[in-house]
Amino acid sequence: MTLVVLGIDALDPELVDSDVHSNLTLGAYKSIETIVSVAGEPSTHELWPTIITGLPPSEHGLQLDDGVAWENPLLRAGSRAADHLLPKEIQSRIGAWLLTNTSEDAFREHATYYEEHDLSTVFDGRKAKAIGVPNYVVNPDDEDREHLLRQRMGDLFERDSDATGGHTSADPVEFYEQCMEMGMVRIARTRRALRSRQYELVFGYTSALDLIGHVSYDDPGLQRDAYNEMDDFVGELVGDLNSEDDLLLVSDHGLQGGLHTEEAIVAATNSEIIEGIKSVTDIHAAVEETLDRDDYTPSARERPERSHESGEAVREQLEDLGYM
Ligand SMILES: [Zn+2]
Repeated sequence: MTLVVLGIDALDPELVDSDVHSNLTLGAYKSIETIVSVAGEPSTHELWPTIITGLPPSEHGLQLDDGVAWENPLLRAGSRAADHLLPKEIQSRIGAWLLTNTSEDAFREHATYYEEHDLSTVFDGRKAKAIGVPNYVVNPDDEDREHLLRQRMGDLFERDSDATGGHTSADPVEFYEQCMEMGMVRIARTRRALRSRQYELVFGYTSALDLIGHVSYDDPGLQRDAYNEMDDFVGELVGDLNSEDDLLLVSDHGLQGGLHTEEAIVAATNSEIIEGIKSVTDIHAAVEETLDRDDYTPSARERPERSHESGEAVREQLEDLGYM
């Protein structure tokens, strides 16, 4: 089997409804605990390293207050001055601000960080594919459409401390389209990795719901639309699973009214996978256990077979629509 883990940043357990979102809730789902950062809310920067290692931020070291933000090249010059002039607490706050301000270097810690710090991740020793996981960058030159769109958000997504959720958008409807494109691209890449049959673990990630959630506080309909569409996209991924495969959806925190909330979610095709998960720190063990239960060795994809009946069905449908 292949275990597919899909990270949906900011997927909020209170905003999914199993009657409406059968793909976001799968066979079983539940709310889990997350961890609040020094900035006063759960932080994407800290939590994905927690999810892949099972360690709280204080142990994996990728924390908002450890100076990581100051390594951003755009700010290195400024930070030298700040080191002397600003109290530590204010530096931390500015660091947190920088990290949520979607600078092009946000969440770009290299995968080598973990080995260098003697930290093990779900990817170690596995035939695994990580797609856009924050702070687990396998190849810094390998940027996809979600990366590009994130770097070019401009006034579609700007930090504004006076705004309800701390962000504003010059055009939330236009930004919505970009966010949905990001979600589709990452889920397409996840589906491709699954269909290649080269991996026992495929771990995809998208920030689409987080970004649109931050600017839709004035227009909650946009956030609802995003959940409904994301349910469709995940449905397409579910359609690619074979009977032995499993899918685990995870988030790092929720998001309501433009602000991160202190609840995350897990959902799985098989309820056993999420049984032991109470917090974001338990996801690592659940993934390991699921993969250890199975001695799957990926080989190669099988030739996709097509029967004449499926061609016949399409022809009939086209005839019904009046095209043939
Ligand atoms: Zn997040």
